[in-house]
Amino acid sequence: MPGYDVIVVGLGGMGSAAAYHLAARGVRVLGLEKFGPAHDRGASHGGSRITRQSYFESPEYVPLLLRAYELFDGLARDSGRDVITLTGGVMVGRPESLTVSGSRLSAERWGLEHEMLDAGDLRRRFPTLSPEPDEVALFEAKAGFVRPEATVSAHLELADRAGADLHFDEPMTSWSAAPGGGVRVETAAGSYEAGQLVITPGPWAPQLLSDLGVPFTIERQVQYWFQPTGGVEPFVPERHPIYIWEDAAGSQIYGFPAIDGPDGGAKVAFFRRGIVTTPETIDREVHPDEITAMADRTRRNLPDLPGTFLTAKTCLYSNTPDEHFVIARHPAHEAVTVACGFSGHGFKFVPVVGEILADLATTGTTQHPIGLFDPRRLSGVTI
Ligand SMILES: Cc1cc2nc3c(=O)[nH]c(=O)nc-3n(C[C@H](O)[C@H](O)[C@H](O)COP(=O)(O)OP(=O)(O)OC[C@H]3O[C@@H](n4cnc5c(N)ncnc54)[C@H](O)[C@@H]3O)c2cc1C
Repeated sequence: MPGYDVIVVGLGGMGSAAAYHLAARGVRVLGLEKFGPAHDRGASHGGSRITRQSYFESPEYVPLLLRAYELFDGLARDSGRDVITLTGGVMVGRPESLTVSGSRLSAERWGLEHEMLDAGDLRRRFPTLSPEPDEVALFEAKAGFVRPEATVSAHLELADRAGADLHFDEPMTSWSAAPGGGVRVETAAGSYEAGQLVITPGPWAPQLLSDLGVPFTIERQVQYWFQPTGGVEPFVPERHPIYIWEDAAGSQIYGFPAIDGPDGGAKVAFFRRGIVTTPETIDREVHPDEITAMADRTRRNLPDLPGTFLTAKTCLYSNTPDEHFVIARHPAHEAVTVACGFSGHGFKFVPVVGEILADLATTGTTQHPIGLFDPRRLSGVTI
């Protein structure tokens, strides 16, 4: 049995990127994944994820986003896959809404290019969008979308090419500290030893990382595709941006241009407001009352989008109480690094999280600013 430097458990968004960055540094990597490559039972499927830089969640994410953009470009080049497309994006709501004011704060703090549009400007620029008179938008040319399945596949292919051993349909059943330092990992197929373990479990964090003491909430989310009234032409990426739209009650929807072909429609979804669940018990069926609620809400802001319902697909958020990520060396185990709790906004960071995990697993530290993501902030331990 070969010895490994690092074992990565969970080859979804974050783990596939970690496996690639580690293998590219010449580290001997074993990757273990419960299901097949780029599967649809976790958090990294559905064809598209928004990416943006004027980050309303906190300006602290901006340096990571700038690096993620560079790495997505490199990944596109090295893999030949279509992983990122910049269409421009609008963050819409009342001026004082988190979506608008938070995006503006990040843009101004970091000197990011942006434009502020009033309701009339927004309507003229994007005729598919129908704002209330008191709504405004922050427009960012560098917003767009990334492709989750293509990104995971690209990282897995490049990791494989760089020499990583990747085992699919082989879940980790347990791990323990090895007698001479390092870790021992068990699966139904065997037992493996390595100096370091990286755990990137997505919505399986409550099972695999309960010892972090972080109260994760796993949430069922639904992505909906509609064929617009009058066809997709006004919704193509050249004319229609990605958007996040917050209403007066603070509820957000977000969506994409028609990027899945003439019959693929355009995707829209609620941000948050999901049902608490687990990966084992989630109801993967989408019900008529949910489709009606999505169509009614969308119609208020994009009157022509919910023409005909095409399809819908469930997905899982892994929320932390403050909706910030968890990325750190495990506070109780020197040989273990963790990344989880991405709270429904992690995919745009995938390549930079891979780089950070490779730093932490090989050197114990990273140059990237990850102080916000220390799990001890959520487990009652004094930092
Ligand atoms: C509907 C929806 C919309 C979203 N929209 C956006 C967006 O617009 N922009 C954005 O940036 N982010 C978005 N996100 C969030 C983003 O997709 C996630 O943050 C990201 O995919 C999380 O990746 P992950 O690697 O943590 O989880 P996953 O990709 O789920 O990977 C975890 C992996 O661990 C594996 N695993 C679990 N247990 C074991 C075990 N015991 N042994 C081996 N393997 C195991 C699982 O099979 C899985 O492959 C969205 C998420 C959803 C669900």
